[in-house]
Amino acid sequence: MEVTQQKCACSDCVCIVNVDKALKKNGKNYCSESCANGHPEGSGCGHTGCKCHG
Ligand SMILES: [Zn+2]
Ligand SMILES: [Zn+2]
Ligand SMILES: [Zn+2]
Repeated sequence: MEVTQQKCACSDCVCIVNVDKALKKNGKNYCSESCANGHPEGSGCGHTGCKCHG
């Protein structure tokens, strides 16, 4: 089975997501709901070492 990995589509996010398990929005793959929604409340994705908050 082939697993495709891709960087989260949030530009500040450094997380790598499995396309299989990614949160999909507008055809892009995100690591978390806050990334997919553009960090509406300024919260990060919650992953260690990642500083994205939109
Ligand atoms: Zn992240
Ligand atoms: Zn992300
Ligand atoms: Zn993000």
